Amino acid sequence: MKNFEQLGVKKEFIKGLVDLKIVNPSEIQLAVIPLLINSKTDLIGQAQTGTGKTAAYGLPLLHQIDPKRNQIQGLILCPTRELGQQIAKQLFKFTKYSEQIFTESVYGGEPIDKQISALSRPTHIIVATPGRLIDLVNRNVVDLSCVKTVVLDEADEMLSMGFQKELDEILGFLTTVENKWLFSATMPEAINLMIKKHISFGAPHITINSKNVVNKDITHQFSVCDESEKFYLLLQFLKSEHKNRGMIFCKTKVMAQTLSKQLIAKNILTDALHGDLLQKERDKVMRAFKNESLQILVATDIAARGIDIDGLSYVVHYQLPDKEEYYTHRSGRTARAGKKGISFSLVTPKEKKTLKFFERALSIDFLQIR
Ligand code: ADP
Ligand code: MG
Repeated sequence: MKNFEQLGVKKEFIKGLVDLKIVNPSEIQLAVIPLLINSKTDLIGQAQTGTGKTAAYGLPLLHQIDPKRNQIQGLILCPTRELGQQIAKQLFKFTKYSEQIFTESVYGGEPIDKQISALSRPTHIIVATPGRLIDLVNRNVVDLSCVKTVVLDEADEMLSMGFQKELDEILGFLTTVENKWLFSATMPEAINLMIKKHISFGAPHITINSKNVVNKDITHQFSVCDESEKFYLLLQFLKSEHKNRGMIFCKTKVMAQTLSKQLIAKNILTDALHGDLLQKERDKVMRAFKNESLQILVATDIAARGIDIDGLSYVVHYQLPDKEEYYTHRSGRTARAGKKGISFSLVTPKEKKTLKFFERALSIDFLQIR
């Protein structure tokens, strides 16, 4: 197996990777880095969450930046603020020992003025949510005319969040771009259309583990119970996990809020993350969860997308998602970077057939816990 140096990654970036304990390239990194590094091409990359897609595109992108030119040369589009900040942070760490490459992240939900003044400093790479980027472009405060590489990260989620029009618009005005790299955990029909429209015909399509979209380090478990017994079973499960950290998913924000209150009443350190929170409140919750003053995060699907937090031992599906893609995304919060994790579903007798469907669609096996 090749190491990062053999894949063509510069020594100065490798030093930054070592600090992050990234030593052996993951599958997607092995496949994608040699194709992208120092070459001009479009690419489609498909791999489950937690497989290291950020470095897979981030390292080749960094190689294409000329730090001496004070121009925006790379653009990364992603669905949420949290994800954008996470990506920018990773790139910053990769470049700890290299010539300075400046990345700025911009996103909605925060006063635009602060971001505008941040952009007046030298910036080589922008990480942006689509809506905010368009806003900045319309105000003429961001110059994308020198962008050579565009990355669409979590493209499936950007589409399901309704960013189709914004993405079309952005890709439409980026006429000088030489490389478009699209990454997605899943390939629903809307993504295929997007690819037909914007990615050059015949671009390499790298799929890692396509039959097994769900990470194999995850054990899938379920218990059958009535709605009224769920909370009790959840407490049993949490007890068996002792002080381990994890996330609990609900379908609705009302359920997420209610459940988080119920858990707090049991002296469990938790809070809820859902779409109705103000950006400031979201940040506060995320900070508390990251610095481990919260043990558990209760979340809705959209609010939690793409969040990369180390050391989560489990994910609980307090309410099953409607779509198998969401099951994959939820479960992908655990068992990151080669660690093991449990994905535990609480289902009513009626919902057992949804599990059967997930088993077939995702090629996974559920183990019943009684
Ligand atoms: P994805 O975007 O595919 O969901 P990320 O890029 O967010 O995955 O990476 C998930 C986690 O794995 C991060 O904490 C990252 O630092 C770590 N990671 C990435 N590549 C490697 C590697 N080759 N070896 C070990 N850890 C890695
Ligand atoms: Mg990612």
